[in-house]
Amino acid sequence: MRPTKILVVDDSKLVHKMYEVILKEYPLVHALDGVEALQQLAGHPTVDLILLDINMPRMNGLQFLAHVKAHQLFRHIPVVIISTEGTEEDTLRGLKAGAAAYIKKPFQNEAILEVIGRLQAGTPPG
Ligand SMILES: [Mg+2]
Repeated sequence: MRPTKILVVDDSKLVHKMYEVILKEYPLVHALDGVEALQQLAGHPTVDLILLDINMPRMNGLQFLAHVKAHQLFRHIPVVIISTEGTEEDTLRGLKAGAAAYIKKPFQNEAILEVIGRLQAGTPPG
């Protein structure tokens, strides 16, 4: 199943432009930090996948993830962390917090499409 809507959360406008190219087949909802992402989720209840940066002002990605996982309406939405926070510890922290997958920046376009494909197929991303 193709996601009907992907929420992309990153404080870099350049990254948003890259997502628009890579994910041109998907409807995107944009947010520049965790606060805006929560507002966008509330306004777009059909979002069914979230791509999430960690380092952002106001509310970072891990704080936003905690909100998503604590919310009954949103906790089922798979969250893929895409961040330069690349240590083993950060990866574990994100996965423990409920992320479905973790991709390090700089990313290959194929890596994002592959993870989305696996989530759509119901296969846990490796
Ligand atoms: Mg950032």
